[in-house]
Amino acid sequence: MIEFENVTKEYPDGTVAIEDISFAVEEGTTTVLVGPSGCGKTTTMKLVNRLEDPTEGTVYFDGTDISKLDEIELRRDIGYVIQEIGLFDHMTVGENVATVPELKSWDEARIDNRVDELLELMDLPPEQYRDQYPSELSGGQRQRVGVARALAADPDVMLMDEPFGALDPITRENLQNEFLDIQEEINTTILFVTHSIDEALKMGDRIAIFDVGELVQYDTPGEILSDP
Ligand code: ADP
Ligand code: ADP
Repeated sequence: MIEFENVTKEYPDGTVAIEDISFAVEEGTTTVLVGPSGCGKTTTMKLVNRLEDPTEGTVYFDGTDISKLDEIELRRDIGYVIQEIGLFDHMTVGENVATVPELKSWDEARIDNRVDELLELMDLPPEQYRDQYPSELSGGQRQRVGVARALAADPDVMLMDEPFGALDPITRENLQNEFLDIQEEINTTILFVTHSIDEALKMGDRIAIFDVGELVQYDTPGEILSDP
């Protein structure tokens, strides 16, 4: 589904964020990138939706070199959730979730159904939350809206960069559990970034352990736990 082949990213100031990284993400799985701050996790994610391009090597999406794909189209197929989700404050919850389906010109009935379905899924009953504004919600609820928005257009891939990182521990645990429950329903390939090994072991089918610019291990949680 997504494959990194000998990818190096050097920023214009000379910082080498990742060096010669190769790994492949299987369709329908959740792969967690874990490692300390500054080790290249966010850079790796940005290479997938082309917010950055590699200095060397190739990233493939369904077998196609992504540098050959249209950036805008690519981003519509890839949901992106970051730590402090940028909801549109002047839009209601429902309008926020509908953003990408609107861009894709779905008909109104289909958009309405999709928005309600996702708000339900994210434990935000639509009759209560659909017409509220982001400023009326708690941090955890805003993050739920962000996840719903990223899922709205049935993306092939979801990039989730510390999606629950800014939440208090209890809310974070609730969202982790909810997300584990919905993973099976949404059937999307997920790349998930965290600096918490506990979160990685909990959320991942596969775990990619990074250390400054390098991928040091890529395994299932079971293999990682049994490897001293
Ligand atoms: P993270 O939460 O992944 O550790 P950072 O704090 O490293 O995020 O980076 C936040 C943003 O700042 C990112 O968009 C990143 O590209 C940018 N950034 C990080 N380090 C630098 C740098 N040395 N120069 C310019 N931009 C940077
Ligand atoms: P992580 O997500 O693991 O915290 P990042 O990918 O954000 O790591 O950063 C990896 C390295 O690249 C860090 O040294 C960071 O400062 C640097 N970096 C990130 N973005 C930029 C940028 N836009 N310009 C220069 N250096 C950057």
